[in-house]
Amino acid sequence: MTGHTADLVVLGGGSGGYAAALRAAELGRSVIVIEKEKVGGTCLHRGCVPTKALLHSAEVADHVRESASVGVTATLQGIDMAGVTAYRENIVAKKYKGLEGLLAARGITVVTGVGRLVEGPAVSVGDDLYRGTDIVLATGSYSRLLPGLEAGGRVLRSEEALALSEVPSRVIILGGGVIGVEFASVWRSFGAEVTIVEALDHLVPNEDVTLSKALERAYRKRGISARLGTRFASVSQTDDDVTVTLEDGSTLVADYLLVAVGRGPATADLGLEGAGVTLERGFVTVDEHLRTSVPHVWAVGDIVPGLQLAHRGFQQGIFVAEHIAGLAPVAVPEHTIPRVTYSRPEVASVGLTEAQARAEHGDRVATYEYNLAGNAKSEIIGTAGIVKVVRAIDGPVLGVHLVGERVGELITEGQLAVAWEAHPEDLAPLIHAHPTQSEALGEAFLALAGKPLHAL
Ligand SMILES: Cc1cc2nc3c(=O)[nH]c(=O)nc-3n(C[C@H](O)[C@H](O)[C@H](O)COP(=O)(O)OP(=O)(O)OC[C@H]3O[C@@H](n4cnc5c(N)ncnc54)[C@H](O)[C@@H]3O)c2cc1C
Repeated sequence: MTGHTADLVVLGGGSGGYAAALRAAELGRSVIVIEKEKVGGTCLHRGCVPTKALLHSAEVADHVRESASVGVTATLQGIDMAGVTAYRENIVAKKYKGLEGLLAARGITVVTGVGRLVEGPAVSVGDDLYRGTDIVLATGSYSRLLPGLEAGGRVLRSEEALALSEVPSRVIILGGGVIGVEFASVWRSFGAEVTIVEALDHLVPNEDVTLSKALERAYRKRGISARLGTRFASVSQTDDDVTVTLEDGSTLVADYLLVAVGRGPATADLGLEGAGVTLERGFVTVDEHLRTSVPHVWAVGDIVPGLQLAHRGFQQGIFVAEHIAGLAPVAVPEHTIPRVTYSRPEVASVGLTEAQARAEHGDRVATYEYNLAGNAKSEIIGTAGIVKVVRAIDGPVLGVHLVGERVGELITEGQLAVAWEAHPEDLAPLIHAHPTQSEALGEAFLALAGKPLHAL
């Protein structure tokens, strides 16, 4: 075996892994990243970035369709999937090139190959052994399937759905979480008939129920049907279509079935348990500093239990790199991480839902819902929606929950309020520019501080 050494060896070059590598290099450490495919990982190549490009194409299609309502004459002639694909791939290619350049500029060595953890700690890749003073595990996640359900043919996972070269005329989506509702949004805007099947009682079931209900209303209006509280039983396919049978005995027929039932940790066959790393249901067990059960072996990103989001991976990567370098980084509590679903309308939240706040604080909770119907900018862009703020009575903002077009861009203000434990009374004097959608948040803070302006 050929031996190599570095201060830090990172296994997996996705959001969490490359963030750890970049920060460690910035702090003067020698770094090797081992990546079996392309640096950038799921988020850049198969997740966040390409899906948001698709959603943007979808939004443009809707705007063209609705152009007459704002006095613009335009006709939607169709969706050119080759053009959509070229646009999406071009964005990913540019960001990939940028990331490769950044890693090279920081002097980081990227090794292409499948790595396995071995005692030492070290990572083996074929006949090479990469020994690190510290190792960061960042191997990400994979699309889960249900028992009895195999991907292939007309049964898609998000990876295949992204690469589809046609606009389907009918689609069934299994799973009403973030990925499911985002694809539903895209396909509906492109003209498909879409049915979402969700076992729980609501779409985006992890969100405050006010947002779930608002999204369900908006989707009904858009002609997206949702079979809520309904379980999948089986699927069969022919060359032409796919038939899904539900546990209530009903069947649905479509061109494709997208399975979007969550993502599992990619920790199999990595040699983790053999090297002494403790796993729980496949996830890597870590302490509050993201240390695994093996000294000098750390874990970040989707393999660590919690929110599976790229920006959480970035933050964890930075945290670990700084910790290794002897700095004293502050761990970001999970509830202060913003969550955005980029459907039409968007759903964005941070902090506790009303139900979670009541479970923690009992009756000492107040909420306020500001309807975007009262917000001039929302009226101008033609979106309905709600801003909901949850506070502790005589205490700080505990949660901010938004639904409406473009509200994802507003969640940062909610994050500051929740993370800094601001009271609505502290926020009320901070005026918001007019006319912006951010005013709706300002109105909710004013109302919770007892002085509503454009509300009762
Ligand atoms: C369709 C979709 C849309 C999404 N949209 C968003 C979004 O809008 N916003 C958001 O925040 N998050 C989004 N996510 C989630 C986001 O992509 C993940 O949270 C993020 O990529 C996790 O980063 P990671 O570093 O843990 O893993 P990954 O990004 O998955 O990176 C892991 C890397 O490790 C490599 N690897 C694995 N095993 C080995 C091995 N043995 N040897 C070498 N390399 C290996 C893989 O090839 C991969 O490149 C989306 C995900 C999907 C699927």
